[in-house]
Amino acid sequence: MPTYQYACTECGHQLEAVQSFSDDALTVCPECAGKLRKLFGAVGVVFKGSGFYRTDSRGSSSSSSPASPAPKQPAKKDTPAPAASASTS
Ligand SMILES: [Zn+2]
Repeated sequence: MPTYQYACTECGHQLEAVQSFSDDALTVCPECAGKLRKLFGAVGVVFKGSGFYRTDSRGSSSSSSPASPAPKQPAKKDTPAPAASASTS
């Protein structure tokens, strides 16, 4: 069972959780009910320094939250497509 390390983005509380791969990731800090940040492969590495939590919205390499607004282009059909039956050439 792998051990995952989490750090709270709100209060900086850190915890480790032994979870299987199929378990859901922890997202809520047990201390302040803040947002937990999963430290991928960072067991033993401490994100020191003030402000790492401030970059939460920016997101570094975490795939938990898609922070970057990807411009989506909805496939609009301007031309009314004829009700195509299954008999198209
Ligand atoms: Zn917390």
